[in-house]
Amino acid sequence: MIPKTVMDFPEAGWRFDNTYARLPQQFYTRTNPTAVRLPAMVIFNYSLAEVMGLRPDVMESEECIAVFAGNAIPQGAEPIAQAYAGHQFGHFNMLGDGRAILLGEHLGPDGSRWDIQLKGPGRTAYSRRGDGRAALRPMLREYLISEAMHTLGIPTTRSLAVVLTGETVFREEELPGAVLTRIAASHIRVGTFEYAAMQQNPESLRALADYTIQRHYPELAGAPNPYISLLEAVIERQASLVAKWLLVGFIHGVMNTDNMALSGETIDYGPCAFMDSYDPATVFSSIDRNGRYAYANQPGIAHWNLVRLAEALLPLFDSDENKAVEMAKESIGKFPDRFQYHWISRMRAKLGLFNGEAGDVALVESLLQGMLRSRSDYTNTLRALDPEKLCGVDAAWHADWRARLARQPQTLEEARCLMRCNNPVVIPRNHKVEEALEAACSNGDYQPLHRSLAALANPFEDGPEKNGYREASPDCSVGYQTFCGT
Ligand code: AMP
Ligand code: MG
Repeated sequence: MIPKTVMDFPEAGWRFDNTYARLPQQFYTRTNPTAVRLPAMVIFNYSLAEVMGLRPDVMESEECIAVFAGNAIPQGAEPIAQAYAGHQFGHFNMLGDGRAILLGEHLGPDGSRWDIQLKGPGRTAYSRRGDGRAALRPMLREYLISEAMHTLGIPTTRSLAVVLTGETVFREEELPGAVLTRIAASHIRVGTFEYAAMQQNPESLRALADYTIQRHYPELAGAPNPYISLLEAVIERQASLVAKWLLVGFIHGVMNTDNMALSGETIDYGPCAFMDSYDPATVFSSIDRNGRYAYANQPGIAHWNLVRLAEALLPLFDSDENKAVEMAKESIGKFPDRFQYHWISRMRAKLGLFNGEAGDVALVESLLQGMLRSRSDYTNTLRALDPEKLCGVDAAWHADWRARLARQPQTLEEARCLMRCNNPVVIPRNHKVEEALEAACSNGDYQPLHRSLAALANPFEDGPEKNGYREASPDCSVGYQTFCGT
C-alpha cells in the first residue's frame, strides 16, 4: 500500500468518526486510495457542503482537491473498503467495495452522520479483476441524477464532488478517469447482511444488526425483539422508497441486493433512467435483457430482496429455527400492503385527493391504462391534469375524476395546489441527461450540466429555467439504452 499524506487542514471543516471500522474485522479491509497524477475539480456541490458544515470557500483549494482525488487523507479519517455479498440478477456473489473506499463518517453541525465515500479511487482487496477506477461520464451521471432525486423529495445518497484524475481508464475505449465523492446515511446494504450470514458467526451478525439499529433505527433498541423490528422497519422504508420511485417514473435498473441500503436511501446510480411515455414494461439497462428490473417489477424485486435480508437475519429472530422462519414470513408478508399503502396515498395527492375512497385504486389504474394506450408522457400528463380542462385525458375518465373531486370538501383550487406540489414539472429527461454529459465529456463544457441542475433544483415550480427541460425526447426514448457505471 502506498504511504499516505495525512492532510492537516482544519479550515475545511472535516470532523471524522470511524464507527464502521470498529465492527468485527471481517466487515472491511483497511485501504488507502491510490494517488492520481493530476487532480482537477470539475463540479462541486456547494449547498450540500454547507449543510454538512464544510467550508465551501476552501473546497477548491489544492488541499481539498487532493482529498477528493484520493491523494491525501483528511485528518481523522480511517479509510476502509467494505466487505459485502449480493444477489446480482438473482445469483449470489461475494462482492465488496471493488472501486470505492469509505474515508469515514463526517459529523455535521447538527450531529448528523454521513459516510464519505470515494468512488473510483483505485484497487482494493475486493476489486477482483477490476481496476478500481471510474470514468468521468458515469460519475457525472450519478451526480446529476442523485441530486435530481434529492430535489424530487426521494431519499438518496448525494454527490459532493467530481474530480478528474488526469489519467485514463480503459473500458471499450480509453476514457477520462474521475473520482466521485458520495455522501450517504451509510453504505450498509442487504448484501452486507448476506455477507455476515455467510460468516457462520452469530456474534458478528448480531454486531452488524446492533450497529444498524443504533445508526438508523435507534428507537428499536428497546423493542421486545429488536431484530424482527429491524426487518419490519426496513420493509417500511423500502416500501415507501419504491413507491416514490414509481410515482416519478424512476427505474433503478440494477436492484441487486448489494444495491439496496438498510437506511432506505436510493443507492448506486448505474443504468437508472426515467420513463417518458407510460409503460410498465419499460427497461433501459442494456444488461437487463429479461426485464427483471423493469419499471413495474420494482416492488416485487424489493420484496424479493427483503426476503434475502430476512433469511440473513434468521438466526437472530429466535434460537428455534422453525419459529424464526414463521416470524420472518409474517413480517415479510406485510410488504405488498405497505407498498400499496404508500403508492396509493401519494397517488391520491397527485390527483388532488385529500381523503381516501375504495375506488381510488381503480381510478388511478384507469388513468394509467389510458396513458399506456395513447403512449402519453407520464410526467407531463400528470402535471397537466386539470379538473376544468381535458388536457389529453380520456373524457369518461375525466368525468369520473371530476365527480370524485366533488365528493371531497376541498375546493378545486385546493386540489390544484396539492397536485402542483406532487407532480413535478421536470424530471431528468434522457435526452437532456445525455446532452449534458456529452458536452462535459467531449468538449469540457459544463454549462449544459449546470443548466440541467438548475432546471431540476425546484422541480415542482414552473419557471423560465425549465424551458427545454419539460419535453420528452423527440423519439420518446424508444430504444434508449443505459449502461452500467463501470
Ligand atoms: P455495481 O455494478 O456498481 O453495483 O458493482 C458491482 C460490484 O462490482 C461491486 O463489488 C463493485 O465494487 C465491483 N466493481 C464495479 N466496477 C469495478 C471496477 N472498475 N473495479 C473493481 N471493482 C468493480
Ligand atoms: Mg453496487
